[in-house]
Amino acid sequence: MDRQQEFVLRTLEERDIRFVRLWFTDVLGFLKSVAVAPAELEGAFAEGIGFDGSAIEGFARVYESDMVARPDPSTFQVLPWENAPGEHYSARMFCDIAMPDGSPSWADPRHVLRRALSRAGEAGFTCYVHPEIEFYLLRGLPSDGSRPEPADSGGYFDQSSHDVAPHFRRNAIETLESMGISVEFSHHEGGPGQQEIDLRYADALTMADNIMTFRYVVKEVALTQGVRASFMPKPFSEHPGSAMHTHFSLFEGDRNAFHDPDDPYELSETGKAFVAGVLRHAREISAVTNQWVNSYKRLIVGGEAPTAVSWGHANRSALVRVPMYSPGKASTRRVEIRTIDSACNPYLAFAVILGAGLTGVQKGYELPPATEDDVWSLTETERRALGYEALPQNLTEALTVMEHSELVAEILGEHVFDFFLRNKRSEWDGYRRQVTPYELATYLPVL
Ligand code: GLU
Ligand code: MG
Ligand code: MG
Repeated sequence: MDRQQEFVLRTLEERDIRFVRLWFTDVLGFLKSVAVAPAELEGAFAEGIGFDGSAIEGFARVYESDMVARPDPSTFQVLPWENAPGEHYSARMFCDIAMPDGSPSWADPRHVLRRALSRAGEAGFTCYVHPEIEFYLLRGLPSDGSRPEPADSGGYFDQSSHDVAPHFRRNAIETLESMGISVEFSHHEGGPGQQEIDLRYADALTMADNIMTFRYVVKEVALTQGVRASFMPKPFSEHPGSAMHTHFSLFEGDRNAFHDPDDPYELSETGKAFVAGVLRHAREISAVTNQWVNSYKRLIVGGEAPTAVSWGHANRSALVRVPMYSPGKASTRRVEIRTIDSACNPYLAFAVILGAGLTGVQKGYELPPATEDDVWSLTETERRALGYEALPQNLTEALTVMEHSELVAEILGEHVFDFFLRNKRSEWDGYRRQVTPYELATYLPVL
């Protein structure tokens, strides 16, 4: 047993913890959990815990359903809540998923990201990310298709004292910090009830784990305040959607490989080629960064979401932004990817962005000129004349582009790639069959 494993066992005993939840994420980005008693943990470290993978979205075909969850002791964390008032605390650990023969499972999103990171590692890079996570606080989560009610009527950066939001954010942040997840900023976002919390940068694998924890914590804290939290990309037609802008940088040892003090924007050749890679492959990876039917309702003109493949410095309609926050400070040079939404699978989304960017670096892609035009204000024809490619307009278009992408097939691996396409095609089919209230209201009176 190694030192980290010993530390886990000792803490369980000292804190009298009776349950350890083993967490992992399915292909669609849902958190799964199996609780084990501390006595089982030594065995779990040695051999893992067996479970039926066929019951998990995307994990196994029925004839190869045995899978093993192997807890990663570096992710051990005591959960900040008692199981019930006065009762014991529980703890959690993220798991890597293995096949019965011990080899890593090709269906495990954590493994997909590990593979992408090791490809970056072979090229000498460590990948750091920090996300700005937007979400809505709502009075309830109606499941009958009726419109949700925002928990407040605040707007961008509003400091309101009369509603639940400031109290909620303070509580959520304290809880996250107590679990070792540092928060950098938080504020009310543009829509009523909409919040944003930005996490302090970490390596991409730790951050993907942190985002899974974040969603869980935010939903739990919302419940304690009598409201509900939703990461749905676009719950309201007339209010902005919820993005998960993510800032990426690549480091070579201690040196930020994206920084060049002599460039006007302090962006190195590596940084430029990375952005070029993300742009060139943006349409192919869009089904992963924006994986739901609803995701494409966010990517529309207005609402500050990108609609076309472009980059800029201050331009908020751009897909990639190269922010100029702290000129001269090498460590902060990073690029902001603005397509990703809050309901992505963070392991897969980070893997495809990193894969696209790294391909740009390794193949020396050239970065097209920046655009400071407001892409939103241009007509379709003007955009085409300026060479902007539109992002896919809906999930089926995104899937069609992805289907032909060697890059995405390679990054996701055959199993996840095939499952993802099949699952998402059927999501689209289900949606396509629906006659919506919009159609009834528009057509019935006149046709
Ligand atoms: N909520 C906007 C979106 O869906 C982003 C707002 C911002 O720039 O922070 O992309
Ligand atoms: Mg924001
Ligand atoms: Mg941003």
